[in-house]
Amino acid sequence: MNLILMGLPGAGKGTQAEKIIEKYQIPHISTGDMFRSAIKEGTELGKQAKSFMDQGALVPDEVTIGIVRERLGKSDCQNGFLLDGFPRTIAQAEALEELLTELNAPIDYVLHVDVPQDKLLDRLTGRRICPECGATYHVIYNPPKVADTCDNDGARLIQREDDRRETVAKRIEVNVEQTQPLLDFYQTKGYLVTVNGDQDISDVFEAIDQKLQTL
Ligand SMILES: [Zn+2]
Repeated sequence: MNLILMGLPGAGKGTQAEKIIEKYQIPHISTGDMFRSAIKEGTELGKQAKSFMDQGALVPDEVTIGIVRERLGKSDCQNGFLLDGFPRTIAQAEALEELLTELNAPIDYVLHVDVPQDKLLDRLTGRRICPECGATYHVIYNPPKVADTCDNDGARLIQREDDRRETVAKRIEVNVEQTQPLLDFYQTKGYLVTVNGDQDISDVFEAIDQKLQTL
């Protein structure tokens, strides 16, 4: 099964990826891992990618898609793959379509783990840190015994700049602008499967799994 996984930050995509690869024994292919291994193996494309990254420049699409081509051609992808973090743009999505046609490995589903933006904000802004001992808490998932107070030493918990509502809202907005055209693209192609990510982790997986069983 050839899958692409999509979702905004905080949607729980990583957790679902782990469950999918465990059950279906396909490799989880993230852009970061792909670049790291191409660079480590010292492939020609890996060297090119590294020279752009060393300059702090964006790696051009032709290099990226070349690295994807090398990765998807490896033997562990024979029974499929789960792409995560790629494609990021329509140009990349179109190049991927061509590549997969060439490899005779068409996409089965683009799984979109969908969580309403206000819920994502709650998830992503809930972290609190103790300035004394460094303990971390989350107001929803891992609250301290007494609100805003460290369990270890009674210090008043703080919120990091990165976790503030405006910062997080901006990050989500940038991601929405980037992913919406891709969701539309895959919707038109007929690959898109939207899964409600605003429920228990096991229920999200259940919904994904039901869809995958139809393959
Ligand atoms: Zn503390």
